[in-house]
This record gives sequence, structure tokens and C-alpha cells, in this order.
Amino acid sequence: MNKTPLKNGDIVTGFVSDYTFDGFAILKTDNGNTIFVPSLVIGEQAEVMVNYVSQKAIYGQVLKINKLSLDRIQPRCPIATACGGCQFQHLNYQAQLAFKKKKVADAFHNIAHFDPIVNDVIGMENPYFYRNKTQMPFGFDNRGQIISGFYRAKTHDIIKVKQCMIESELAGPILTTIRTLMSEYHINPYDEDRQTGIVRHVLIRTSHHFKHLMVVFVVAKVEISNFSRMIDKLVAAHPEITTVVQNINMDKTNVILGHKEKVLFGPGYIKDRLFDIEFRISPKSFYQINPTQTEKLYQTAIDLARFTGQERVLDAYSGIGSIGLSMAKYVKEVVGVELVEVAVKDANMNAKRNKIDNAHFYTGDAGEFLENAAKRGQYFDVVIMDPPRRGASSAFVNSLLKIKPAKIIYISCDPATMARDIDVLKSAYQVGRLQPVDMFPHTYHVENIVLLSLKTA
Ligand code: SAH
Repeated sequence: MNKTPLKNGDIVTGFVSDYTFDGFAILKTDNGNTIFVPSLVIGEQAEVMVNYVSQKAIYGQVLKINKLSLDRIQPRCPIATACGGCQFQHLNYQAQLAFKKKKVADAFHNIAHFDPIVNDVIGMENPYFYRNKTQMPFGFDNRGQIISGFYRAKTHDIIKVKQCMIESELAGPILTTIRTLMSEYHINPYDEDRQTGIVRHVLIRTSHHFKHLMVVFVVAKVEISNFSRMIDKLVAAHPEITTVVQNINMDKTNVILGHKEKVLFGPGYIKDRLFDIEFRISPKSFYQINPTQTEKLYQTAIDLARFTGQERVLDAYSGIGSIGLSMAKYVKEVVGVELVEVAVKDANMNAKRNKIDNAHFYTGDAGEFLENAAKRGQYFDVVIMDPPRRGASSAFVNSLLKIKPAKIIYISCDPATMARDIDVLKSAYQVGRLQPVDMFPHTYHVENIVLLSLKTA
């Protein structure tokens, strides 16, 4: 069949054969084209309008669904499609988990050239309101009312959000109070173009364990009249707020948080707990955003490792040390390495505050660190690696092949880079069952964990 060249505005029909790794439906049109369309489900037939054509890909938007899938559900969020934060609110949760399982299997098949066993994804009992961090820009709507919400995908237009379905349920009512108090005290949202007004963003972090909240006002001014009165009213109305911070950002920038901070109420941080370990979270601390699933992920790592108590463990890409500290009581020693110095400081403080004295964290590039360890003939029994999306560096992977730890536990938020790295390691390591964990329901992201065991000759 000859493909018909398509241009913006063309209307075509087709059926959905699969999804892309990032959650677009792959629509095969009746005249032989492939179009990527959001918010459709496998098996559906639809009429779509082409809205973006490049040499690599054609994108479209749904006009009409001619045949509906039984896996389609009504999104709980009224702006699920416009916002772009969620890709799968229209898909029932079991089908979302099936997509994620297949995404992991496909990545290994295509990139690592073998087909390991993939377990069912560990999902959430209640896959809503799971995020412990919300950051929303503030602005005016066209009637002059103060609004907060999300930027419409690829724009700086704010879409009004009353209650985001994946963020803490405690945050929505607080944001409503903030909008009311701001108009009462004439504290205006910041206007990016005119550079007028005050409040740019409000960041809310929630302690899952203690149900405490931190509110951070990101503002374009140091002295704000009536600000402290407004804060008094806010914390009186919401006793669950235990700290309020003013973050000052006067730059013309997309970066949300500025460098300067002033604590306006409470200690300036909140505490949360994973297992029996307490973490202090400041406005800028890195912290896993889905604490319920984080415990399941770390528990899976602990179970896979089958520690005897004698191990020397490397926690590579350790962030604030949450994995290493969760394991410390099962092993002899934990050594952590992480690039971001403040995170390392947090990790060592977290160790101290929790009276864990067999875990130490160091600042540095994980690849360089492991190369040096290999040169000095150091050994680790177990290496836990949890790199960012781009995966591990080749220096890191090659050093693993030199040190040859008995076990490697690879945790990853991108199956593609994980498959690439494991393709290199598989000559020396037996690859166990892959265990995906759903840390980010309603999005296309999937976390994955696997045990690699050193092959014996
Ligand atoms: N293990 C932690 C954090 C994982 S996120 C947790 O479970 O919370 C990945 C971490 O890798 C981030 O903290 C990031 O700062 C760090 N990182 C990124 N590149 C790095 C590198 N080259 N060397 C060491 N750490 C790095």
C-alpha cells in the first residue's frame, strides 16, 4: 500500500495497534500511515486530525472514537488530556500495568537482545493521590481571578487545577486557602512578561508518615506587606502545615526555586519515615515522590540480596542515602557514592540522626569512584546501583566487570538504558527475573529492579 503524504489539518481514520514507550497510541491509518496520538487505547478505531508533521514522526489529536476499548475508563481528572502530566488516566489500572510490563520486556528484547522473565508489575492498591510533592505556578485567569495549576503542555499558559488526582489530597484545600488569602491581602501572582507581582510558585511537600506539610512560597520579592499576616491565617486554617518557607527567586528563569530562603514558620523542614528510618526533608532535598511504592521497591532489593550480615555493600547513585540506610542493619558496611554534594551531606546526617554507624557516603562520580576502587583492589560483595535516566556510565559498568561483585542489584527508572547496561554485564552475570514497580501510576514511567549474580566458571 502506498502511503499518502500527510500535512497539518488532515483528517484520517485508523486503528490503534500498540503504544510508544512514552504512552502515545500508535495509530495505523487506512492509507498506510503511522500517527502518534495521545489518549487512545489499543484496539480502538478513531478519527484523528494531524497536528504535527516532521521527517521522523507524525502526531495527531483525537476527533472521534469510532470503536471504544473495554479498557477505557473515564479519567478522574477533568483536565487529564490538556495537562499532559498523566498519559494514562483514560486506561484502567490493570491495563496500565500490562503496558508497563510489556515496555520492560520490549526494551530487553530490542536493546539487550534476550528475553528475561518479567514479573507482573507491583502496583498500588489505590493509585491516586500518591505524590508527596506539588509545585504549582500562580497567575490570573481572564476574569482577573487568581488561579494555580499546571502549565499546558509546552506552553506557559496556566490550566486551573482544583485537585490534582495524583498529588497529595491534603494539598488541594491548602492551595484554595492560599488563593483566597492572596486576593484578600492583595498579594498578586507574578507576571513573567511584565515582571510584576509577587507569587511565582507554591511548592507543597507532604510527609506520608506524619501527615505534616511544608509550604514554600516562591516569590519575586524579599519584603512583602501583609505576608506574615497571611501566613498566620494560613497555618491557623490548616494545622497540618508544620513549616512555611519563603524562597526568593528574582531571576527571569524557568528554574522554580531560587537560592535564597527564609523560614517563616516552624523548623524549615519536615520529617518522613521509610521503614524505621527518619529523613529530614528541606525545600530542595531530593526525595522519592511515592513513599508507599518506595518501601516496596527497597524491600524487593533487600529480599533479592539475601544478606548474611557479612557484606560490604556499595550504594551507587545514592541520593540522600535512603537505599543504603534501609539496608545498613542487614549488612556489615555500606559505602555510598553520589554526585550532588548536598545530597551526600543529607545522607551522612540521616545516618547520624538514625544512629547508623556502618554507612558512609561520599561525593563523586560513581564511575570514577568505582574505577579507583578497582585500581586499589577494593571489593564489594553487593553493588546496588540506581542511576538516573541516562543509566550508568561505561566507566562504571566496566569497573563492575573488573571488581566482579558477587551480586549486583540494578534499580532503574528507564528500562532502555538499563537494558543497554545489562547487555554489557550479561557475559559475566546471570540475569534474574525483572521486577517492575509502579512508582508513577497514570504516567508512562516504570521503575524496574533486577538481581544479577556473578556466573561461576
Ligand atoms: N538511590 C536514591 C537516588 C536515585 S536518583 C534513591 O533511591 O532515592 C539517581 C541519583 O544519581 C541522583 O541523586 C543523582 O544526583 C545521582 N547521580 C547522577 N549522576 C551521577 C554520577 N555520575 N555519579 C554519582 N551519582 C550521580
